[in-house]
Amino acid sequence: MTQLPQSTERKMGLVIDLDTCVGCHACVISCKGWNTENYGAPLSDQDAYGSNPSGTFLNRVHSYEVTPDEGHAQLIHFPKSCLHCEDAPCVTVCPTGASYKRVEDGIVLVNESDCIGCGLCAWSCPYGARELDQAEGVMKKCTLCVDRIYNENLPEVDRIPSCVRTCPAGARHFGDLGDPNSDVSKLVAEREGVDLMPEMGTKPVNKYLPPRPKDQIEDQIDILAPLLAPVAEEPKGFLGWLDKTLEKL
Ligand code: SF4
Ligand code: SF4
Ligand code: SF4
Repeated sequence: MTQLPQSTERKMGLVIDLDTCVGCHACVISCKGWNTENYGAPLSDQDAYGSNPSGTFLNRVHSYEVTPDEGHAQLIHFPKSCLHCEDAPCVTVCPTGASYKRVEDGIVLVNESDCIGCGLCAWSCPYGARELDQAEGVMKKCTLCVDRIYNENLPEVDRIPSCVRTCPAGARHFGDLGDPNSDVSKLVAEREGVDLMPEMGTKPVNKYLPPRPKDQIEDQIDILAPLLAPVAEEPKGFLGWLDKTLEKL
């Protein structure tokens, strides 16, 4: 069994806005591409062009239609990857020490050379955030693009996780959630961000910003309604002349 650090110097993680995510899957593709084509070990695919394709992904998006007791149904797109939990059962359950949590930034990683592919960590993760790479026989998971965020070969603007860099809706944010003055912490406080399944006791670092009720958006549309009303019953000036001219045709 593997020990977790008592505390970490930072708590790097993602903040995902369920209100603005449009379910485009760009983060999924960008994650798969970066981790397969660049510095990371490849994420294998099986039967990619056959009748039963499968593959290893570190980030997936699920979409749900939610019908509240009152009001309209809402379509919620839910991106899911490792949440870099503070009390990560996937680490403590690992028999070889392959799974570990870093003291310097709190990122949970797998040392693939020590992984025996037993799958215990995947069973212990309540979020289904780990995937066994069928070709390599080792466990894979989100690394928060640890090979990007400190990579001085990249321009500074690219030193964030690939999914965050790619999201066209600006629904993904990255930063230190252990620092109450960081942009991500302020965003979580402002939008009342939540933990995923807090009852599991894993203390996830990643946070989700809840979707706003659709009815609030309708109110905003009502506010705009007076601006959309016709400006005059009778056209005047050039429009009045044009109207009369067209009537004569
Ligand atoms: S989300 Fe799952 S894999 Fe990631 S740290 Fe938490 S328990 Fe481990
Ligand atoms: S699959 Fe690998 S990382 Fe997961 S518990 Fe087993 S040895 Fe540890
Ligand atoms: S790229 Fe952004 S908008 Fe698209 S699915 Fe991912 S989080 Fe949602």
